[in-house]
Order: sequence, then structure tokens, then C-alpha cells
Amino acid sequence: MQNLDALPAEIARRDPQDYAVDGVVPAVALAPTTVEEVSACLAAANDAGLGVIPWGGGSHMGLGNLPASYDVALDLRALDGVAHHEPDDLTISVRAGCTIAELDRHLAEHGQVLPIDVARPESATIGGVVAAGLAGPRRFGYGSLRDLLIGITVVLPDGRIAKGGGMVVKNVSGFDMMRLYYGSLGSLAVITQVNMKVIPRPRAQRSVVARFPTLTAAVEAAEAVRTSQLVPTAIVVLDEGATRRAELPDARWSLCLRCEAPPVAVVRQAERIAAAVRNGAEAAEIVENDETTGLWQRIALALDAAPAADTIGVRVGAAPSQLSVVSEAAANELAALDLATELTLDLGSGLCYVRAMGEPAAMRRAWEELAQLGLHATLLTAPHGIKSDTDVFGRKPAGFETMRALKAEFDPRGTLNRGRFIGHL
Ligand SMILES: Cc1cc2nc3c(=O)[nH]c(=O)nc-3n(C[C@H](O)[C@H](O)[C@H](O)COP(=O)(O)OP(=O)(O)OC[C@H]3O[C@@H](n4cnc5c(N)ncnc54)[C@H](O)[C@@H]3O)c2cc1C
Repeated sequence: MQNLDALPAEIARRDPQDYAVDGVVPAVALAPTTVEEVSACLAAANDAGLGVIPWGGGSHMGLGNLPASYDVALDLRALDGVAHHEPDDLTISVRAGCTIAELDRHLAEHGQVLPIDVARPESATIGGVVAAGLAGPRRFGYGSLRDLLIGITVVLPDGRIAKGGGMVVKNVSGFDMMRLYYGSLGSLAVITQVNMKVIPRPRAQRSVVARFPTLTAAVEAAEAVRTSQLVPTAIVVLDEGATRRAELPDARWSLCLRCEAPPVAVVRQAERIAAAVRNGAEAAEIVENDETTGLWQRIALALDAAPAADTIGVRVGAAPSQLSVVSEAAANELAALDLATELTLDLGSGLCYVRAMGEPAAMRRAWEELAQLGLHATLLTAPHGIKSDTDVFGRKPAGFETMRALKAEFDPRGTLNRGRFIGHL
């Protein structure tokens, strides 16, 4: 307990029970309110050899390997709010603990939006979203949040405060440090503020929802749109179980396409998309403005696998042209196991999301089979017993040695998210 005494006494404390990660409860939970306090917490923990896990909204703590050790939870939610907004320049600077819902409400007052999908916007924080680096279906139309980052402030494990980029859209000098932290799962530094580009809020939206008897028919219709001049901002195909979870009309396979544009253009787009997919569909309908937001929020929740004792969530990546082959193989592998499964294909990003529910042995087998498919596979969530002898990030990527070198350079004492990143870094 000697080591814990080194932590700054003036920082607010929370109940550690509320910060369990994969069942591991930290000894202390600290809630700094300023970047200087974050710096003091990290410097002390680093000196004392303590393991720290940054905590945003806590909505994606299931992502990552089991912690190798976990002494301190660093709750960043008190670093909240918008720091600076230049509406005329379409740029905004937001503190890490600001929730996506809070940011959305602020931007809406200015007729602007950050075009990302987040399953739980009321709890997810911008720092957590950048650290987790997952992109939803709107990545097809707008790119990922990574492409919208123009500046970042972080605190390094030894307490040094570092900044990259700035508040202007054309940041082209030097190495693009922001990109390094995106998707690093808080393994290199704690993000305290991010600067981003935003866009004018699309004045209208429509979605096309169609039903198909087979995966092949649904994907063929989707591909006909994807490779045409039509410009949907998201394209997903859901199997029967995922269709049910997203509260869509019953279907063996559903195809959903989103259009966001000025009012007249959006009506024309949706009609042309509906006409394009009707061929081969059992039915196709157009969903109007208000319903579209709710529809895609439910689809985001269908993609999101919240931690549960009887569920694994796996994401398999493939080239968009190969996604249906990979998904078909996934469905066949899973059919042989005694599991309830749900499949969603994000055709714009080349990702197949699988949720499988059942006995631990069957779920383990499912992960082993799925990990062999596609270009890469990630176990987004799984019970402790399955995580304990696997790397949830699957096969090591080509750049793994560079990642290891970066970790050694940024966090030589392994203070941050100890053991949780790719290859148990
Ligand atoms: C269907 C779906 C669609 C999604 N779409 C998008 C999308 O379009 N764009 C996008 O960017 N994300 C997207 N996400 C990602 C998702 O919304 C975020 O991963 C999530 O909400 C994280 O927020 P959080 O604050 O709850 O993070 P937490 O669960 O608190 O943390 C997640 C991880 O990040 C680390 N972390 C948290 N805060 C910080 C910080 N300030 N500094 C360093 N590390 C930190 C934690 O240690 C943890 O490992 C999507 C997810 C789903 C399921």
C-alpha cells in the first residue's frame, strides 16, 4: 500500500467498485478536474510503478485484453465541455470528458454536426471515442473521426503535457501526431482535449430499408448502389437476429441505406436508391427524416456488443468486395456450433460484426474460427474466461514491431492500460 500513498491527496476520489475492468477492481479511482491534475496523477503513478486505466464514459471497457495489473482508475469525465468553437471555420476544441450527446447538442445550436455514429452518446466521451478508434457505418460517407482530427492535447505517462496540430484545418507541417493516439486505446498517453473539423448539419435525411430472402441478393443490391453514382452515407446488411435487435420489420436479410443532403436532393436520392434495390427485394420502403435518426441509433446499438456473461462480439474485416464471402463463411462456421448468432455487415467499411450467445466452450470455438477469417478479426467483447488465453486483437498486424517500439518510447514503465493493447502491450 506504500505505493498508493504517493498519489496526490488533493485529487477527488471515487468508489473503485464503479471502475471494474473485466472484473478487476482498482485500488483507487481518481477524478482530476484539470489537465494539470491529470499530469500530477500520472507523474505520481508512473514514479510509483502503478498501473493506470483512463476512464471516459466506460461504455467500451470491454474492448482490449485483460489488464496485466490495474491499480488506478483515472476518471476523465470532470474534464468536460467545449473549450473553443469557431463556427465560421467549422472547427471545435472539446475537452476529453465531453460526452458525444453534449457535443451534439452544442453543435446543433449552430446548425453543425460531428458526423460519427456512437452507440451510447449520453455516456461515450470524445476522449474515449478517439482512444477506441472504432468507426460506425457513416464512415462510408464522411470518413472516420481520425480524418476529422486537427489537434490534440495529451498527458504522457510521466506527466508531461504534449500538444499536436492546432485549430486550423490545414495542419500539414511535421509528423501527424493526432493520428498516433487515435485507436491507441489510451496505451500511449491520456487524451485531455481534441480539436476537430465539423460539418454543416445536413438539412434533411432519408433511409431506404429493404427486405431480401438471401445474403447474396441483399449484397448484390447494396453493391449496385455502392458502385453507382448514388451517394448514400451508410450501407448495412443485417441478418434475421440483428434485424430484430434493430427493431426493423421482420426479414431474413435487411438492407439499410442512409442519405443525408439538402431536402430536394435527399428525396431524389432516396427514390433512386429505392428503385435500384427493389429489383430482387421482397419489399423496399423509404423512412423519413425523424425516423432515420432513430433507425441508425438502433443499428448502432445492434452493432455494439455490451459486455455480458453469455455473449461474444467479434468484428471481422475484409475488402468490401470480399465481405459477403467472409460473412457467408462466418455464418456457416457458426451454424455448426450451438449458439444464437447475429450478423451485421457494414459494407461501406468492409466490416462484419458478429454477436454470438451461448455456452463458453461454443463461444470460444466461434472466436477461434472467426479469427481465421478475413484480413483481421477483433474480439470486441467476451467474458473473462475466454479473454484470459487469447489476444483479443487477433493476428498481430504488420506494423506490430513499430507499435512495440512506440510503447517502449512513450510508456517505458508500462503505466497506461498495462497489457490491454495489441500483443498484450
Ligand atoms: C456501432 C458503433 C459505432 C461506432 N461508431 C463510431 C464512430 O463512428 N466514430 C468513432 O470514433 N467511434 C465510434 N464508435 C466507438 C464508440 O462509440 C466508442 O468506443 C465509445 O463510445 C468510447 O467512449 P467512452 O468514453 O465510453 O470510452 P471508455 O469505454 O471509457 O474507454 C474506451 C477506451 O479508451 C480509453 N480511454 C477513455 N478515455 C480516454 C482518454 N481521455 N485518453 C486516453 N484513453 C482513454 C480507455 O482506457 C478504454 O480503453 C462506435 C462504436 C460502436 C459500437
